[in-house]
Parts: sequence; C-alpha cells; structure tokens
Amino acid sequence: MADQFTFSDPTTLYRTDGYPEQHQDAPGLAEDLTPGADHGEQSYRGTGRLTGRKALVTGADSGIGRAAAIAFAREGADVVLNYLPSEESDAKEVAALIEEAGRKAVLAPADISDETAARALVRTAVDALGGLDIVANVAGKQTWVDDLADISSEQFDATFKTNVYALFWIMQEALPHLQPGSTIINTSSIQAYSPAPGLVDYATTKAAINTMSKALAQQLAPKGIRVNVVAPGPFWTPLQATGGQPTEALPEFGQETPLGRAGQPAELGPAYVFLASPESSYVTGETLNVNGGMPTP
Ligand code: NAD
Ligand code: MG
Repeated sequence: MADQFTFSDPTTLYRTDGYPEQHQDAPGLAEDLTPGADHGEQSYRGTGRLTGRKALVTGADSGIGRAAAIAFAREGADVVLNYLPSEESDAKEVAALIEEAGRKAVLAPADISDETAARALVRTAVDALGGLDIVANVAGKQTWVDDLADISSEQFDATFKTNVYALFWIMQEALPHLQPGSTIINTSSIQAYSPAPGLVDYATTKAAINTMSKALAQQLAPKGIRVNVVAPGPFWTPLQATGGQPTEALPEFGQETPLGRAGQPAELGPAYVFLASPESSYVTGETLNVNGGMPTP
C-alpha cells in the first residue's frame, strides 16, 4: 500500500481542483467535509521514531492536529487529544486509530481560550500519561471578515486567546514537567508573512506565534528543550469550511501555490514527527514551512 515514502509526483498526489462551496458553523467536523480530507489514516507508516514518548496535541480531532496525532501514535507515542466538546465524534475516531496503533489515547475536551481550562488540560495530560515530553499546539481560530469595521472585539479577543494566550498558558504550565529532550511544536501559517486582507486578526496571531516561539526557543535551549514551528500553507480542513475563507473562495482554494493544489493534512504529519523526534536534535527556533512552495522570509 502507498505510504508517505512512496515515490510520487507532488503536483498530482492529491486533488488538483479546488473544493465545492460549503459552510459549517465553527468549529465544524472533519466528518462533514466534502470531499473528506486525508489525515494519513490509510497511509502513515511509523518507524519507531517516538517510541514511548508522551504527547499532548491540541486541535487533535480534525485537520492538521488529527494528522499529527495519528503520526505520533504510529511512531510509538501515547497521545492526549484536546478539542472542543462539540467535536467529540471526530475525536473518538482519532482515539480509535491511536488504539489500533497499540498506543494510549486520552480524550481531553477543553476550551483552551479559557486560562483555567488551558492550564487544567496540561495537568490532565501529565496525570494521564505519567509525564509529558511533546507539546504540539495545533488548535486555532480563523474567521474571515472583509471589513475591519466588522471585526467585533469579541472575535478579536477570542482569536488572540485561542491562538496566542492558550500557547502561553499551556507552555508555561507544561514547562516544569518537560525533561531535556522534550519538544514544543507550535503551529503558525503562511499568513504570518503573506497576510490576506480579510484575516487581519488571525494573521497577526500567526506572526506572534512565530516570534514567541523564536524567543522561547533561545530561553529553553540551555535546558535541552526545543521549540519549533510548523507554518502550513492552504490545507483542506474544517477551519476553511467554517468561515476561515469566504465560501466563494473554496473553489480556488490552494490553486495559487506553485504546486497548484491545496495540501492534505496527511502531508503535515511527517513535519510534526520530524520536529518532535531526536532526529531534529540540532533544530530549535525554526519555522518549517509546508506550503506548496510559496516563498517565505
Ligand atoms: P481544524 O478546524 O481541523 O483544527 C482547528 C482545531 O482547533 C479544531 O479542531 C478545534 O478542536 C480547535 N480549537 C479551536 N478553538 C478552540 C478552543 N477554544 N479550545 C480548544 N480547541 C479549539 O483546522 P486546521 O486547519 O487543521 O487547523 C489547525 C491549525 O493549523 C490552526 O492553528 C490553524 O491556524 C493552522 N493552519 C491551518 C491552515 C489551513 O489551511 N488549514 C493553514 C495555516 C495554518
Ligand atoms: Mg475540529
């Protein structure tokens, strides 16, 4: 069966057309995406690179976080899955895949835009796994608004709380538990450098994540803890079908990239694994751009 090591043409590996117009209320469900996304369910083949590791993944129910969670488990890690309560059905599918891989899956729904809940999530993860050595912050909130005048303070606040404050709370709470060799992986975006006009708040949070990660990477390097970032380009996930893009933009989604198509979450699993595993031992403060070839600074 084809896996992530199969020689293939990246321009035609996945759907080259855009996507049909559709809308779900945020946060949406992977199971309601049309067509469905590939998170590596059928293809990701582990090679033992995270044997015995203990991972917390936020946004682990769907999209990029689901791909990271599946890949981590198939590489040998136990995984705590965080998501919003309304996403329980998606999260249970991921938990089943992790258990099929012979690893422990812990369901940990929590709204991480709330400080108390975000901090409690880390304590839940440490208790459930008997420690923690991979923190993958993947959850995010993205809401397209054409006109600055129409961005509510509530939206601006919720986007920053989810995308930036939650990382601060989770990393601060996790730090006392992280032994040398542990890794933190945050999730930025091409939007950090090439902001779209309708993503003023979201794009700003993604630039903040890059900068926060580079500062913290220097602070934690002497402790043997690495901090890196994955910066995706356009990937087919519920984020985009729940108002992250204008609905009418979905038919062209991803077509602007040099590779000419949107990415599938399965194409990000290996990036998270690389940054989580000791094979990236000399990489910290780095942003790994996985974006179909769009130039970045
Ligand atoms: P997704 O909708 O599958 O995942 C986002 C997840 O965030 C949701 O599943 C939800 O569980 C979680 N979330 C949102 N608000 C939360 C809250 N308050 N508390 C707890 N969890 C919350 O979409 P995705 O595209 O896989 O997004 C994952 C990350 O990738 C996000 O940080 C996003 O900004 C980033 N990203 C996505 C793209 C893309 O094109 N899809 C591009 C660049 C960056
Ligand atoms: Mg989801």
